[in-house]
Amino acid sequence: AKAKGKSCYEVFDKEMYAQALAQLQLENDMRQALERNEFQVYYQPIVSTQMGKIAGFEALIRWQHPTRGFVSPAEFIPLAEETGAIVPIGEWILGSVCQQIKRWQEQFSFTFPLKVSVNLSAKQFRDTDFLRKIDKILMQTGLEGGNLQLELTESMLMDDVENLIGILSQLRVRGIQLSIDDFGTGYSSLSYLHRFPVNYLKIDRSFVKGLGDNTESLKITESIVALAHNLKLAAIAEGVETKEQLMQLRQLGCEYVQGYLFSPPVPAKAATKWLAKLFD
Ligand code: C2E
Ligand code: CA
Ligand code: CA
Ligand code: CA
Repeated sequence: AKAKGKSCYEVFDKEMYAQALAQLQLENDMRQALERNEFQVYYQPIVSTQMGKIAGFEALIRWQHPTRGFVSPAEFIPLAEETGAIVPIGEWILGSVCQQIKRWQEQFSFTFPLKVSVNLSAKQFRDTDFLRKIDKILMQTGLEGGNLQLELTESMLMDDVENLIGILSQLRVRGIQLSIDDFGTGYSSLSYLHRFPVNYLKIDRSFVKGLGDNTESLKITESIVALAHNLKLAAIAEGVETKEQLMQLRQLGCEYVQGYLFSPPVPAKAATKWLAKLFD
């Protein structure tokens, strides 16, 4: 029994070693990915429920690894957060998105502000230089803050509340709109929610998924929409895949929807083609 235990231990050890090695390799690759231009921003349309019109996009990062192929952000973003690599990567995303919005504005001479929403990670947000970096990017691209939306998660709202309200207010002064992503899945500080100058609650896909055949999901979704409206915020539902889900969300008064029913995230080129159809 003892020998068996030992060999089990050894196998486990080897696996852990291989895993640690793979992790380390990915970390290294990630560090070089920026310089090698392996990241790309994809855009998923956000649609107004009442008008059925496109209101903006959510920007989602994609990594085309030279040998491993496509690596999901669900895999490398947590790693980037752990190692701090998310700070330069996040800056690159913001710059890239602002440049793209500017290009769209020039191409279509928008008379209304089309908004693009960018996911922020906690590390980026805690960076004391964050506001300065935002200002630099806006200045360099000549973009108004009004075209930019930032997505925060509930866990980011757990920190030093006073300090946080200060930063959020500074973003709002620049016209930047704010949403709370994956709402309902984290430990939200409901008692503070009304003090945060945010504009949208994004209903997590896990709740939207159950709409149609699960009364629990319907009740939760209904409550989040009601909470949003009571706080004078608008609601955005993510992961909408079926017409039934869309119909229920419309009935609940959810203002915006996004999901595969309309479009998956697509490269800027494809999003541009879409805009061309809308505006030309
Ligand atoms: P998230 O912010 O909650 O993004 C929504 C995710 O749902 C995206 O996955 C999107 O492609 C996917 N999605 C959209 N519509 C549907 C649908 O109808 N059905 C299903 N099943 N999925 C849908 P993605 O792009 O793989 O991103 C995963 C997560 O990685 C994001 O979750 C976000 O937390 C993180 N992430 C992605 N891009 C960035 C980024 O640029 N910066 C940061 N900090 N995090 C990012
Ligand atoms: Ca998001
Ligand atoms: Ca989300
Ligand atoms: Ca999510």
